[in-house]
Amino acid sequence: MGISADREAELLAQVPTGLLIDGQWRDAAGGRTFDVEDPATGKTLLSIADASAGDGALAMDAAAAAQAGWARTAPRERGEILRRAFELVTERAEDFALLMTLEMGKPLAEARGEVTYGAEFLRWFSEEAVRISGRYSTAPDGKSRLLVNRKPVGPCLLITPWNFPLAMATRKIAPAVAAGCTMVLKPAKLTPLTSQLFAAVMMEAGLPAGVLNVVSTTAAGDVTGPILKDSRLRKVSFTGSTPVGQSLIRDAAENVLRTSMELGGNAPFIVFEDADLDKAVDGAMAAKLRNMGEACTAANRFIVQDTVADEFAEKFAARVGAMTTGRGTEEDTKIGPLIDGKSRDKVHALVSEALDGGAVALVGGEPEDGPGYFYRPTVLKNVPADARILKEEIFGPVAPIVTFSGEDEAVALANNTEYGLVSYVFTRDLNRGLRIGEKLETGMLGLNAGVVSNAAAPFGGVKQSGLGREGGAEGIDEYLYTQYIGIADPYAG
Ligand code: NAD
Repeated sequence: MGISADREAELLAQVPTGLLIDGQWRDAAGGRTFDVEDPATGKTLLSIADASAGDGALAMDAAAAAQAGWARTAPRERGEILRRAFELVTERAEDFALLMTLEMGKPLAEARGEVTYGAEFLRWFSEEAVRISGRYSTAPDGKSRLLVNRKPVGPCLLITPWNFPLAMATRKIAPAVAAGCTMVLKPAKLTPLTSQLFAAVMMEAGLPAGVLNVVSTTAAGDVTGPILKDSRLRKVSFTGSTPVGQSLIRDAAENVLRTSMELGGNAPFIVFEDADLDKAVDGAMAAKLRNMGEACTAANRFIVQDTVADEFAEKFAARVGAMTTGRGTEEDTKIGPLIDGKSRDKVHALVSEALDGGAVALVGGEPEDGPGYFYRPTVLKNVPADARILKEEIFGPVAPIVTFSGEDEAVALANNTEYGLVSYVFTRDLNRGLRIGEKLETGMLGLNAGVVSNAAAPFGGVKQSGLGREGGAEGIDEYLYTQYIGIADPYAG
């Protein structure tokens, strides 16, 4: 059982292949295109327009031209567009799920989960659009009045990664639409098709021309560089790796742009001896193996109390070893391919170095033969404290386990990283959980939970994991600025 080739072809035929500029799907300058491939087979799925710097400039022009009118639309209207987009994505959930599976590789069941999660940002921000409020107050000396208003920041550049093709786009587009900002979206070149289809849905939902412009490209820096320098741009929101984020922050400094940065992670997953170990293993499966481990929130280091480490490792390895790898379109696939050969090689280098340093593979430890970029789900124990695999984002289905004996040691190990996106703690002692939460340098904490992402919650990190928050009540703030109007004493005559 699986998805038929006809069904795949029929879906791909519905994906717009042009650049979306000012409400029109256009060819790239010179008719340039690039191929998007299926990481499970290495075969080309579709060729789409490959934007140049000139195309990016046209997209920026369109966003700038649409900004003033869009900022004046009624909040309810913006909310209704998002609500319609939510309904449309939900109606087409199977299309979006299959498209993500085809271009990114994740199993269909997980892609369906991402559609639900990604669509939720549309619903959440459709509700937030009408809750943008300010205040009117009397100054402390009683003489003047203070009017505080929230306004859209203006045209935004949105840059998204390949690992969650729908959710990373809706998490930025929905609050920008709700706030009244126009935007240029540059999707990841490895998985642009979902953004292409989603942009078509936004247009169908009634988004005016120029509000959302999409420039898929193989030349990211060439296209985004001039946009970042354009004095009409007001904000850049980026999700991706820390080094690229750092370089965008440097570029943004020139124009003093607002920045939102959702960067890399190195999540600790701490298991105390009083934890329900079966629940901890369930949490570990979700935190590590979801999306083949290709998530910024993926548990990167399992830090387990020495008294229960062997039992946890055995139970975890038994579950991991039973996972079936395969093309995500096959219903029994639990682990799809990694995104490309480079990623697979990097994962294998980290594993090999750990094994050479004395780690033991309880399961996995090797890539699988092609076609496709598969890596066997792996659990490593006795991982040396200085192993590179504990310092770098693995971005693959590999779980390194280290042990600790006391609470302070667990916290020290967990905080020993330049990242601070998410942490996971498993314990039956709520006080301990909250205490550890206070000591961890982390933007988010899963307490007896292996998944924290929720459209209603503020997603984001500290340290080199980023700046700003997406989702929750905080998510729309990133797209609003505060304007204050000082008003003379109305009693002064
Ligand atoms: P990446 O940094 O290579 O690319 C991200 C995006 O930036 C892509 O669209 C890419 O084309 C673009 N890009 C690359 N170089 C650029 C440049 N010089 N100028 C402008 N744009 C450029 O990251 P990736 O490999 O696509 O994604 C994986 C990374 O993303 C991981 O580090 C992961 O942790 C991170 N991530 C973070 C979050 C989060 O919310 N914190 C979510 C998902 C992924």
